[in-house]
Amino acid sequence: QFPFGRRLPCDIYWHGVSFHDNDIFSGQVNKFPGMTEMVRKITLSRAVRTMQDLFPLEYNFYPRSWILPEEFPLFAAEVHMMKDSDPSWKPTFIVKPDGGCQGDGIYLIKDPSDIRLTGSIQSRPAVVQEYICKPLLVDKLKFDIRLYVLLKSLEPLEIYIAKDGLSRFCTEPYQEPTLKNLHQVFMHLTNYSLNIHSGNFIHSDNVNTGSKRTFSSILCRLSSRGVDVKKLWSDIISLVIKTIIALTPELKVYYQSDIPAGKPGPTCFQILGFDILLMKNLKPMLLEVNANPSMRIEHEQELSPGVFENVPSPVDEEVKVAVIRDTLRLVDPQKKKRKDYLLLIIHYCKDLINQCFIIKKNPKRQHIESCKNKVNVRYNYFMCYRCQTLEHVSEAKEELLDAGPAERPDRDAGRSPEAGLPSLCLKQVFPKYAKQFNYLRLVDRVAALFIRFLGVKGTTKLGPTGFRTFIRNCKLSNSNFSMASVDILYIDITRRWNSMGIDHKESGMCLQAFVEAFFCLAQKKYKSPPLHEQVASLIEFCEYHLAALDEKRLVCGRG
Ligand code: ADP
Repeated sequence: QFPFGRRLPCDIYWHGVSFHDNDIFSGQVNKFPGMTEMVRKITLSRAVRTMQDLFPLEYNFYPRSWILPEEFPLFAAEVHMMKDSDPSWKPTFIVKPDGGCQGDGIYLIKDPSDIRLTGSIQSRPAVVQEYICKPLLVDKLKFDIRLYVLLKSLEPLEIYIAKDGLSRFCTEPYQEPTLKNLHQVFMHLTNYSLNIHSGNFIHSDNVNTGSKRTFSSILCRLSSRGVDVKKLWSDIISLVIKTIIALTPELKVYYQSDIPAGKPGPTCFQILGFDILLMKNLKPMLLEVNANPSMRIEHEQELSPGVFENVPSPVDEEVKVAVIRDTLRLVDPQKKKRKDYLLLIIHYCKDLINQCFIIKKNPKRQHIESCKNKVNVRYNYFMCYRCQTLEHVSEAKEELLDAGPAERPDRDAGRSPEAGLPSLCLKQVFPKYAKQFNYLRLVDRVAALFIRFLGVKGTTKLGPTGFRTFIRNCKLSNSNFSMASVDILYIDITRRWNSMGIDHKESGMCLQAFVEAFFCLAQKKYKSPPLHEQVASLIEFCEYHLAALDEKRLVCGRG
């Protein structure tokens, strides 16, 4: 803490709430701009729905959701229709206020007519979602999983998942929802903040028992029951990667607005909390993503009535300390510098060798002089970076020596300053599995087109001129689709998205509206579904024309 201000910049800024906690111009910040907005219940549901439109099977890990109040008529109509076609279907729905947390304001309903539309819903929008009636139970109790995920970088995308997480238990034995038990929060909601008030709550003194346990302890039990734990992990990893792929397009729009390319600014990373529910058939379902997961490693205990004390929580400590330690190891600025210096050394070594070859091949006097000069410059650079790298290695050695004999692994001391630390609990899953998931990143490419035409840096919405330029440069207008129709499309979609009251600060077309317009154009141009193929074809068409335009401009520029 710097109560009197700090003049020198830091390597890492650890903000409590959001990217905007301070004005930062360098280093790394532990929050992405726009992440808090992106993981709100409504925004997340919208982002996942866009992906469900493109890839319905791949995104079936998120319960069917409707946004209130605007989609209430749609919700009522769809439920009515499904009940008509299958009279044995007796669904339950869960209503969650947007931006709520810790179970605040959540309730279960059996029918759309039970929604408390008066008053609060109008002023506080919400998501209504199909309730998962058959969760996996352990000791007859419903539980959910909190997994920690590090989004290390947005461009290129880098994702890490913690090998262990938390399992948070309900405190009343689970029964499938009936009109009688709908209101029993200790049976249906797994939130720690709610269940802690139940008389049945057990503070865990080890990782395998009580109302909060490690996820690995649950996996051990499942494995002893014969469950394929490897498959379960791979399903969870796939859920996490797909969810982040759904969030990245809009995050990139926020990013370029707050940290415009080419201007000095920090880079970002963020620890996210994924809440996942396992269904009875072991399919993981995404409940929500937290941009500010609690990192507390102690809990309050009531010593005597009204007297509370903070006591350590071994389960939280086991999981969370490792997550923070490894996040710092992965974003370590010193490590980055060491890597950069090593890359530079390699670069200059290669160049030195090249110059020597050139001298050998062209032993003319004049040529030798010029090459000798180049060799000298490269050699100086090389020595300079070599010194800096060695300096870092010796700094690291000193750190290890300072740590004292118990922590000094002599054999490893010269190798790396991390040699004495436990192995990483954060496991890289992207780009490691990029090949399997890259085909899903269509909206990312649509967002790249959107950002290109935003024009003025710092905005997040596209004006009518930007949209027209996009249509013209990508050669999308023709005799069947006049510029007048382009304007009508822009106005129709933009007006509808702006009337949803998401962000009134700026006027213009937001990314989601642009994506809708793009899907419309794709369906118009390529008649045969599926939608993802139509969209992919249109993206390729646009990228081709823009690349040709760039080439032309480059040639003209040179000319
Ligand atoms: P909050 O941010 O208020 O915690 P969540 O979306 O995490 O909101 O929901 C709170 C709890 O409700 C979850 O921890 C879970 O136990 C339960 N829950 C949420 N959505 C569903 C659902 N679709 N099906 C079954 N249970 C759910």
